Amino acid sequence: MPPAFAVADTCLQHPALTDEETMTHLLHRQIHGSLPVAIGGKGIELIDAGGKHYIDASGGAAVSCLGHAHPDVVAALHSQFDRIAYAHTSFFTTEAAERLGDRLVEDAPPGLSHVYLVSGGSEAVEAALKMARQYFVEKGEPQRRHIIARRQSYHGNTLGALATGGNEWRRAQFRPLLIETHHVDPCFAYRFREPGETDEAYAARAAQALEDKILELGPEEVIAFVAETVVGATAGAVPPVADYFKRIRAICDRYGVLLILDEVMCGMGRTGTLHACQLEGISPDFMTIAKGLGGGYQPIGAVLLGRQIFDAFANGSGFFQHGHTYMGHPMAAAAALAVQEAIHRDLLLDNVKAMGGRLTARLQARFGNHLHIGDIRGRGLFQAIELVADRGTKEPFAPGLKVHAKIKRQAMQRGLMVYPMGGTIDGACGDHVLIAPPFIVAPHEIDTIVERLGEAVDAALRDFE
Ligand code: PLP
Repeated sequence: MPPAFAVADTCLQHPALTDEETMTHLLHRQIHGSLPVAIGGKGIELIDAGGKHYIDASGGAAVSCLGHAHPDVVAALHSQFDRIAYAHTSFFTTEAAERLGDRLVEDAPPGLSHVYLVSGGSEAVEAALKMARQYFVEKGEPQRRHIIARRQSYHGNTLGALATGGNEWRRAQFRPLLIETHHVDPCFAYRFREPGETDEAYAARAAQALEDKILELGPEEVIAFVAETVVGATAGAVPPVADYFKRIRAICDRYGVLLILDEVMCGMGRTGTLHACQLEGISPDFMTIAKGLGGGYQPIGAVLLGRQIFDAFANGSGFFQHGHTYMGHPMAAAAALAVQEAIHRDLLLDNVKAMGGRLTARLQARFGNHLHIGDIRGRGLFQAIELVADRGTKEPFAPGLKVHAKIKRQAMQRGLMVYPMGGTIDGACGDHVLIAPPFIVAPHEIDTIVERLGEAVDAALRDFE
């Protein structure tokens, strides 16, 4: 397979490490088994120690929005490193963090006026949950204690975020440690829309589930509703139907419930608009962002929050009772700022829309009539195929078959990184493969991604025929 570009010399100066020689103490090796050693990357490709190239068609886990070794980000990191690598936020602010905060608010959905910088998605969700609770304590409504979220969702792996997520497989063994949360069905047209039901009727029914739950719990006791604007890892690029989130916003407003949109995976341009909720025509009270914020160049996440939240804190106790050692880290802020500036300057959201359209067309052409692809869905460069044992009944493959893992293995053999995940244990969603290439992807690369994915899916499924 010819490389699409010259590999940086430094990548290949490392001696090729064998499995036995490297990282034998790392827990993630025990979980994922034998892994190639990544020694370099450039553009949309990663290179392993054997010199093999992989197209990064998932941006890792929908992270690498600018691809690898982007010169602007590398330069920004060098420059920040030369000035200051770390300064604790209780002593100092930094220019990088200040500029990133300004930029994020400038581009935020209406009403979001402040930023809380953290180091990743789970931390952002934890902070949003705690801020929402403290907001009501500040306002003199300490009886508010319930969090409502949705089934088939993922909000992170720390205990609060895990409790909020609606993925039973991830939660089951930790249940005794989890705070009590409540879950309603997501807006997931392929799985939950009734035959013949219009978008409008389905949006109303799906949103009604939230109102019913609020009324059941007692509106004066509910803190917040948490949802991914476009569902990512658990169900695979599931967009809402039109008007669902407008109805959700109205219901939250009716009962004084805060709306937390988790855009850790679907946000920061991945769906073609900077924030996925822009297409829904609503603003949340809190929005969590991470992955595409720093594009993987540094670990970073953030909570964007509304003016009313900030005012309640400012006029009340005067501080948010929370904090992490690395929040507002200047290296992370400098990386995120450079990533966001490059996306803006190079008009990459236009490319997300154009290449997203091409990706949809290619996926439809390759899998539209495939016996085991039940659904092709998503927005922008955030798309997925869902695998089913039977297209007619939508019955998923048995989870024990691990179809997703076989597809991943086949794809890696073909030099393709995609992000397959297993179905839900309640059978409400089958195995799926998430495709989320960097925003710089070119048309011929979209074609190659779908070509290799088609081969990988067919090779994986041959075992079951
Ligand atoms: N929220 C969503 C929607 C996610 O997809 C993820 C990660 O995949 C998280 C939160 C957790 O982010 P992190 O893995 O950075 O903690």
